[in-house]
Amino acid sequence: MFKKAFASFSEFCKRLFQTPYKAECVEDLPDNFKKKTLYVIGTKDEPWQVELFCPCGCEDKIVLPTNDSMKPRWYLKVQKGKPSLSPSIFRSKGCKSHFFIREGYVDWCFD
Ligand SMILES: [Zn+2]
Repeated sequence: MFKKAFASFSEFCKRLFQTPYKAECVEDLPDNFKKKTLYVIGTKDEPWQVELFCPCGCEDKIVLPTNDSMKPRWYLKVQKGKPSLSPSIFRSKGCKSHFFIREGYVDWCFD
């Protein structure tokens, strides 16, 4: 009960304070790589790779393969321009951030 109330409260805060990521399909990465933009290399239906700035603020660029021939690979879904990625993104180096991107919003994992 409490956990559920807390979950909806944190959901509310997240949407209030976060600027969601936008998905942008590109053939090549632009020179001025923007924050809060998830670049989809390839097409929305057949994304080859996605790139984004780490949401923690460390300014590292994260590159995730979304292609069948790559392992590991991530699954991208774009709804109304907002990207969702699964599974979670767990950085083994640098800031060691662990998070999900769901409908453009970052869900942090604190375990
Ligand atoms: Zn980071």
